[in-house]
Amino acid sequence: MDKSSQSLPAEKAAAQYVVVARRYRPQTFDELIGQEHVAKALKGAIASERVGHAYLFTGARGVGKTSAARILAKALNCARGTSPTPCNECEICHSIASGDDVDVLEIDGASNRGIDEIRQLRQNVAVRPARARFKIYIIDEVHMLTKEAFNALLKTLEEPPEHVKFIFATTEPNKIPITILSRCQRYDFAGIDAAAIHARLDQIADAEGVVVEPDALQIIAMRAAGSMRDSQSLLEQLLSSGKRQITAADVTGLLGLAPASRLTRLVAPLVEGNAAAALTELDAAIAEGAEVGQLIDQLLGYFRDVMTQAVGCGVNQLLYALPGQREEIQAVAQRLGIQTLLAMSQVLDQTAARLRVSTQVRTLAEMALVRICHLQDLDEISALIQQLSGGDLAAPGAAQPLSMPGAALSKKNGLTEAPGNGRRPASPTAAGPAVQPRAALGGNAADRSGAPAQAGPHADFRPEAQDAAEATTLPATSGSSNRVELQPAAAEEVWRAALERLAGITADCAAAATRISIDAQGRLVASFPECHKFSRDACLRPTNLSRLEAALAEVAGGRVPLVLTTHHDPNESAAAATPQRTSAKQQQADAAAEPFVQRAVELFDADASRMRFVAPPSDGTAP
Ligand SMILES: [Zn+2]
Repeated sequence: MDKSSQSLPAEKAAAQYVVVARRYRPQTFDELIGQEHVAKALKGAIASERVGHAYLFTGARGVGKTSAARILAKALNCARGTSPTPCNECEICHSIASGDDVDVLEIDGASNRGIDEIRQLRQNVAVRPARARFKIYIIDEVHMLTKEAFNALLKTLEEPPEHVKFIFATTEPNKIPITILSRCQRYDFAGIDAAAIHARLDQIADAEGVVVEPDALQIIAMRAAGSMRDSQSLLEQLLSSGKRQITAADVTGLLGLAPASRLTRLVAPLVEGNAAAALTELDAAIAEGAEVGQLIDQLLGYFRDVMTQAVGCGVNQLLYALPGQREEIQAVAQRLGIQTLLAMSQVLDQTAARLRVSTQVRTLAEMALVRICHLQDLDEISALIQQLSGGDLAAPGAAQPLSMPGAALSKKNGLTEAPGNGRRPASPTAAGPAVQPRAALGGNAADRSGAPAQAGPHADFRPEAQDAAEATTLPATSGSSNRVELQPAAAEEVWRAALERLAGITADCAAAATRISIDAQGRLVASFPECHKFSRDACLRPTNLSRLEAALAEVAGGRVPLVLTTHHDPNESAAAATPQRTSAKQQQADAAAEPFVQRAVELFDADASRMRFVAPPSDGTAP
């Protein structure tokens, strides 16, 4: 960056304070950050003397349209000759840079939008330039002109005098009549990426003799959303405090944002599904000065970044995470399934929209957090629906016809052990990756890592033998260095204690097991009455299974091999009539009484009377 060109307007206006955005306005095509394609094309046109008579610069605000127009004007009118690199030293370059050159007329389209102003412009167009080669009209926000004004302008554009150039700038090119568009050379200015803004702010901070933390610059750059001018206005506000050192906390404080550490503490309970903790963290963030609306936007950005990692994008796709948050984002991506992330984002997005028109901002935010905490089993349910409706869970190309809960879990464990190692399969439809045990946060990975790796091919949702008491053996035999041998007398107690540590669907379903014992191989056998086979099946799902195993391991102090089975007991199942003979109504009622169904109803505000039985198990017990 050319220092002399930076300080040029500053010297001129030394007597009075000039805002940062103006003081550091780019003065050459090479200084035009983020618009290299435009700069290159314009330089080429000037060098080859193929400059058109009307240009249209389009793009969002603060991306350099007016700056480019002034540079083009200097390039055409510089006293030292038309050149892609104007001298920036002559009187004409100086006066164009400061916006008060007699031959370069800057017109605000928004306040000069009528027919009279354009008529006057047409009269002036005929007058030759006072001292330079060209009379240049820069019309900003040109889309604001009235229809009549456009028509008057069109007459000039159709037969422009040799000495006149027009440069139109607009944020809304779609509002410009096609007759005008077709007579302009159009250049679309891109939004400037955060890295380029960051680098520029760094230079400015240096030049101002202020030390600004990299994270602080990063937050400003992200916040500016592609607008260099907005980013510089924010920096200006921070500089105006007079501090010589600016921290990330200064920036978050100014913008009403929660600092990264607070965001981390708020995200953790959302991932765990702990609504009480989430509300407590929200309260703390507000007490620290975070604005509710900003906080919801921050969460939306955060989970957007998590989503990119969950579908397998690289870190270069992270838009909102600070460099120090990357690992955390990736870890969260390992825990949340795509469906859950999409639902979370939807809740946050809807809330953000509602916040703008509500006075109950805090309550709305709290509702959003509680709803997110109750989304916890969306991916499990999605996987279960797939299991129930099709049965064929194999990922495309997989040899096995069934994707085993155990296999899915072991896959998940492999990822847990090596976070950030490569990408996950991007397909959310494959049951394996979609099933993300969410309760793994508090669990000890070592306890769980080896456990279900060799789970056998239990066809839990497939037609199976008529044997009433089929057993499902879960644990692997290898990798069981810390396996615990339970005494038969302790079985019941360990099971109950483990259940007390659990909550939600897992606990509800596991509680349906009525016979707890230790078998000949020292495995803990939890047996469910046949009429509660559905609860057994629910416990076999990867997330619930890993929770159960983690809880048992916690209680027993080591891995407990687990067998979940069912048994036929005339006494226990007496209450549940034989399903084949029950009416559809009775079937509905039975199913609605299942804890899993009740939870699903609660979660989705669903109507249990409209349940369909998609794939009844062959043994004909409860669905
Ligand atoms: Zn010059």
